[in-house]
Amino acid sequence: MGRVFVAGSINMDVVATADRHPRVGETVAGRQVLYFPGGKGANQAVAASRLGARTTLIGRLGKDSFGAELRTFLGDQGIDLGYVAETAEAHTGTAIITVAEADNTIVVIPGANGLVGADDVEVVPLLAGDVAVSQFEIPLPAIAAFFRRGRAAGATTLLNPAPAQKMPDELLALVDILVLNETELGFLAGVDLSDSDETAKIVDTARKIQVREDQTICVTLGKRGVLALAGREEILVQGRAVKAVDTTGAGDCFVGALAAELADGAALRTALAFANAAASISVQRMGAGPSMPTAAEVKAVLG
Ligand code: ATP
Repeated sequence: MGRVFVAGSINMDVVATADRHPRVGETVAGRQVLYFPGGKGANQAVAASRLGARTTLIGRLGKDSFGAELRTFLGDQGIDLGYVAETAEAHTGTAIITVAEADNTIVVIPGANGLVGADDVEVVPLLAGDVAVSQFEIPLPAIAAFFRRGRAAGATTLLNPAPAQKMPDELLALVDILVLNETELGFLAGVDLSDSDETAKIVDTARKIQVREDQTICVTLGKRGVLALAGREEILVQGRAVKAVDTTGAGDCFVGALAAELADGAALRTALAFANAAASISVQRMGAGPSMPTAAEVKAVLG
């Protein structure tokens, strides 16, 4: 059984709730302040570990109290943190979120995440059968170095290009499996996919960005499920009809679950159905980290 290695961001999400948002220059009294472990890298590692995969996180924390809290939380999730470095040069990545009037504003300060470099990822003991996962919340050269190492070792590389940004073709060519939502696909392909329910249009767009014939592009479609282009083959997994209460972290749950199942040796179609079921459970619960299901919960849904 392979392992899951996630090179990515680790953040503390600081959430302030208030009756209304302050105007520029104004101070308003808030109701509550809440602290949630976050960052796409950490969330995806939590999802994979909770589903039973042997999971290693690679990243950076500041030498501060948020860093210490996050290390304790992630360690408690069973994640190997041997490759999470502490740096005195920056604080721990922090997202400042204000929630009011059913809307939010977010300021993310990458901090230590922005210092993850090739030296952090080149020492990772990746082996054939492992899955190397990353996202766009650490610098692109670090992701490229991680995937180069992964491919040299015979591991599968999986990129979740979120938040969307342009990437060089050389990086895309290092990716075995790309997992992205419709907005990110539209952005990368330069195509407007908003309101496109048409499977054919999504497949055509996915084909546009495919740089290798053996590359798999998985487009998550929210409640409609997921559509994958695996080489030339198309696989559609229908979304599960559930009552969603909070879709935050659904994409991270999907990626972590897909990586966990592939590392366990599952075929792509099986892994997609598993990840779709896992993410459908996560949307029925509040929050990102706390909403990630266990393997037993996913198996119960799949029957
Ligand atoms: P987010 O940014 O909110 O974390 P995302 O935009 O990256 O999510 P989505 O495509 O919205 O990703 O969702 C990922 C997966 O989660 C879907 O492919 C599906 O499996 C599951 N999912 C999301 N929303 C629903 C829903 N309302 N009902 C059932 N499953 C859902």
